[in-house]
Amino acid sequence: MPTYEYLCSQCGHEFARIMSFKEYEEAKVSCPQCKSLEVKQQMASFISKTSRKS
Ligand SMILES: [Zn+2]
Repeated sequence: MPTYEYLCSQCGHEFARIMSFKEYEEAKVSCPQCKSLEVKQQMASFISKTSRKS
């Protein structure tokens, strides 16, 4: 499963979540440190350049 990395806008805490795509679409990601929902997603370590259909 891909790892999604986040940076909290409130406290600057960086954290990662491992989620399926379905969870990712439905998830409300909050900072584990200050519980803020103001988190910015970082460049994921999972980079999808595949599945080009021709
Ligand atoms: Zn925070």
